[in-house]
Amino acid sequence: MSVSWLIVAVFIITAIALWLRTTNQHERELAHLSELQAQTVISQLSIIERFLKTIGEDVATIPDENFVEMAAERLRKSTQYHLNVEGIALIDPHGRFLAADFDIDQENYTLPEENRILGDYLDMMNEPRFQIGRPYFFDPLQRWVIPLRQPVFNARGQLLGSVSVAYRIDDGFALATRDDLPADTQIALVRSDGYLTYLYPIDDEFNDPQTVYTQPVSAGLRALLSLPTGLYSYLRPSPSHDGLMSYSAYIGKPNPYAQTIVVLRSKRAVVQAWLSSMILPTSLLLFCVVVLFYAYRNAQRIIDTSEQEIETRQKALMNSLTRYSQLTAMMPAGVYQVLITFAGPRQFVFLSERARGIFALPANLPVTQAMEKVVGMIHPEDLNRFIELEEKAVANSQPLQWEGRFFVEGEEKCIVIHSRPGSTEENGILWHGVMVDVTEQRRATRQLDELTNLDTVTSLPNRTFLHQRVYEAINEARRSHCVGLVLSVDLDNFKLLNDSVGQIEGDYALYLAGERLAHAVDEHGIAARILADEFVLLVANAGTTEKGAFELANRIVEHIQSAFVEPLQLHHDQYQMTVSIGVATLSAVTQSVEQVLQQADQAMYEAKSQGRNLAIFFDAEMEQRLQARLELQRELHRAILAEELELHYQPKVNIKGEVVGVEALTRWVHPIRGMISPVDFIAIAEQSADILILGRWVLRSACQQLVEWQKDPVRKSWTMAVNVSVKQLREASFVTSVKEILESTGAPASQLFIEITESMLLGQAETAIGKMSQLKQLGVRFALDDFGTGYSNLNYLYRLPIDQLKIDQSFVMNMDKNQTQQQIITSIIALGHALKLQVVAEGVETLAQSQALHDHGCDLFQGFYFSPAVRPSALRTSYNPAGEI
Ligand code: C2E
Ligand code: CA
Ligand code: CA
Repeated sequence: MSVSWLIVAVFIITAIALWLRTTNQHERELAHLSELQAQTVISQLSIIERFLKTIGEDVATIPDENFVEMAAERLRKSTQYHLNVEGIALIDPHGRFLAADFDIDQENYTLPEENRILGDYLDMMNEPRFQIGRPYFFDPLQRWVIPLRQPVFNARGQLLGSVSVAYRIDDGFALATRDDLPADTQIALVRSDGYLTYLYPIDDEFNDPQTVYTQPVSAGLRALLSLPTGLYSYLRPSPSHDGLMSYSAYIGKPNPYAQTIVVLRSKRAVVQAWLSSMILPTSLLLFCVVVLFYAYRNAQRIIDTSEQEIETRQKALMNSLTRYSQLTAMMPAGVYQVLITFAGPRQFVFLSERARGIFALPANLPVTQAMEKVVGMIHPEDLNRFIELEEKAVANSQPLQWEGRFFVEGEEKCIVIHSRPGSTEENGILWHGVMVDVTEQRRATRQLDELTNLDTVTSLPNRTFLHQRVYEAINEARRSHCVGLVLSVDLDNFKLLNDSVGQIEGDYALYLAGERLAHAVDEHGIAARILADEFVLLVANAGTTEKGAFELANRIVEHIQSAFVEPLQLHHDQYQMTVSIGVATLSAVTQSVEQVLQQADQAMYEAKSQGRNLAIFFDAEMEQRLQARLELQRELHRAILAEELELHYQPKVNIKGEVVGVEALTRWVHPIRGMISPVDFIAIAEQSADILILGRWVLRSACQQLVEWQKDPVRKSWTMAVNVSVKQLREASFVTSVKEILESTGAPASQLFIEITESMLLGQAETAIGKMSQLKQLGVRFALDDFGTGYSNLNYLYRLPIDQLKIDQSFVMNMDKNQTQQQIITSIIALGHALKLQVVAEGVETLAQSQALHDHGCDLFQGFYFSPAVRPSALRTSYNPAGEI
């Protein structure tokens, strides 16, 4: 960090500068002290020197007699003015005290020899001049003094000795500023022989004057004494601990008394001074460091948090990106964004992984280059439509929805695109879109369509498919004013064929017929099977004129008729099949699919009623009859809902003519047309769900009648037979609906007979038997109606849970004509009895028939001979018994 380095550099420079300043200041301070001390010393010594000279001269004038007494007198008088002078004495040239202003205890006190005190004195006597002696402990005064001496001569110039003062060692040279002397500072007067004359203060280390004044100064200091004025460093042994201590010593200027003035200061003090001067900068430095540290920590924290923030945000972004791409990848749809520039060109801005997958775009293909590739894949037949839709969407800023085919790696794909305009960008509008690959769905739907639109027996299109195609043909006719053809083809007497050869062969016959019809219409259109034995051929476009259409219709009819000239080759048999054909045209005026199909049907019915094996073209005249038929259908529907139908009852009598039960037969009492036969309306009802409503109504009414008869002593034992239609029996809820009716009406189940025919069992025998068995458990019984007309499979008969066999009326009608018919009846009755069934004869019209049947052992009789179906009030309890007439 440059700021920290700068601070450190500034600090070091400051430290150096302060060091220099401190040492400089310290030198100046020491120099000043030295100067001050020098002045003090010089002034003091020169005063003392002059004083001693005066005293000396004075003493020299004293006559020899009384010399000592007078000298002592003079000395005593002289010193009272000198504060720092402890005492004054007259000493002879041998060091013996002659006189003093103080008491000398011992007679003849002489200077001590130790420490060269006497030696120094004698030296001075040899070379007489002012002398500063070594400090010593002066016994007579009991203190440390500095001896200051002046030689004394008498008038003849004879050396008498000296006048000496004991100068106060502590106060003598005291500076005026002594009290202010900085700590750690000492001032010393060093003699030229290396001994001290004066030291202040005598610090803790050298607290003993004995030590201080009787030894030479340290070698280090002595070495400095000869050097010029200035500040020096030296080392001196520390008396308190081992080792040396560093000192600064200011060597003062030379003075006339040969006393070197040395101002001493321990280096430690200098360093301390420097250190104390460093307090501020150090504090500043510390402050800076602290500030910097906090700033750094803050910055670091900010950086950390922002890094964390960045990291969290990056993570969140990554997460959302991953999530987004995972989601888009999981979606069955591809997601994309397209920029539609104002200038025109389009460009992908984003393509999800799935979107790329749909178009098999390589992962490294830049998104900007994808548009060209994708557009290049659009099926040529779909391209224009796409461009048209897209331009419209862009122009109106409306969502775009389009399904089209693309060629992706040679494979045709069906893709749905939804997109909508989004934000407006600098150079265009951003559209957001999704695309879904629906190839598989479309394929599956097509397959399903094929399955649901195909008839399983003939593999031809079924009713649903035909309706769709007719619908399209009508739309096309409206658009292009062409004429189409619808041919309704019904196989004549197919029911008979089916009943005689069985269902499997019947189905095979249908298949072969369908094949021939499809071949007959050929490339002009399609053939479809819409009901059991009903086929429809459709030619969507048979030209633009009716005439041309009729010509084509004639040709197709011819093809059909010639196709059926050859008998159908069944597995076990041959069958000469004929067909009835109704032809209708469709055009721009055709109103509906139903209309044109009904017209063709109507023509076909008429062909059938005119003797079959015919082709009839629908015409205006026929329209009325068609309308009448349709009207009837509508009216029946209304009548059933309005319960305009009535139930009539035809008795079944025993050999005694007693009524044992009745058969319920429906009548439609039309307000205008009067009574309409079930032969005419049951077939119409069977064409729709009306038959189910009607069937339930009949069952309920019959049961109610049974309950009604319970009040009558005779009628309460009558059975009630009800006819059911094949559609009713096949209904899944047949059993439950019968149960429900029995329960809700309270009719006795054991008195109910349900009449079924053999043909109703065709194809679904097992289910039918299952349902019958379920109802039998409730007590309901079954009668097999019209026996002998269908294919009577005996094996089958054994398994049917029936109780009654009804000989078809055709046998009864013809029984008196020939022997064979009689034999048939005989064998039917025998068969019935063998199967333990009750045998009923239907259509008994004459006494003869009645008698003959009686003779053959028939159990019950039903016919006009006894009574037609009548209202309940018209029923008798017995009729003429057969044998009594
Ligand atoms: P079916 O079940 O064979 O009923 C007998 C038919 O023969 C009845 O005709 C009856 O009136 C008629 N008949 C009775 N005795 C004689 C006779 O001595 N000589 C002649 N020539 N005919 C006689 P109907 O009532 O016209 O019914 C015709 C058919 O309509 C019935 O034939 C039955 O299959 C069906 N049908 C009638 N009512 C119902 C019904 O409620 N439900 C269903 N599903 N079908 C019904
Ligand atoms: Ca019947
Ligand atoms: Ca019948």
